[in-house]
Parts: sequence; structure tokens; C-alpha cells
Amino acid sequence: MHELGVTESIASICLKHAQGNNAKRVLKVNVKLGELTGIVDHYVAFYWDMVTKDTIAQGAELNFTKVPVVAHCPACEDDFEVVEYDLTCPRCGRTETELISGREFMVESIEIE
Ligand SMILES: [Zn+2]
Repeated sequence: MHELGVTESIASICLKHAQGNNAKRVLKVNVKLGELTGIVDHYVAFYWDMVTKDTIAQGAELNFTKVPVVAHCPACEDDFEVVEYDLTCPRCGRTETELISGREFMVESIEIE
């Protein structure tokens, strides 16, 4: 899995941000996690303790906001939540729909002191 790599990315973003703001400590990190990314928050949390050891982000709380998979149907001009990878519009049955969310993986905000 790629959780170690993404956890290292989160840590480096946090440390860069914290150092840029002369922070003494990182308290909390809010991460947006799309359900299509396949990233398991449990593993990220596990690696987090490892990659932040002996940094100012050590012990910081990781908070995940899960982003559901949502697609847009151009025929109905409506959005719908995708269930189990089925991109078919539940209203008109059209399959040419557009994925609009669910791939997010980003640091939304960081709390420092
Ligand atoms: Zn439709």
C-alpha cells in the first residue's frame, strides 16, 4: 500500500507550515480523504506516529474527513452519490456521468501553537 508515502507527504506539509509560522508544536491536522483513494486512515494514523517521531508534529492528532464519491449526470444536471463504483445515474440510467469528488487527499487545515 501507499499509505507510508502519503503519510510522509502530510508530515512534510505540516512541518513546513509549522516552521513557516514559527510554531512550537503541531496540535492537530485535518485531512480530507476521498473514498476512492483507497487510502486507509487506520494505516495513515499508524505511520503518522512513526514519521513524526522526534519532530514538532509528534503526538499531533490526525483528523480525517471522509469525502463520499459523487458523480454528476449531464442529462439530469444533477449530482448523485456513487455506491459501490457504479457510475450509472440512478434517475435516467445514463452511464456517461462525470466523477466530481472522491479522489481528494489533502491537508485541509493545521492547528499549531
Ligand atoms: Zn441522469
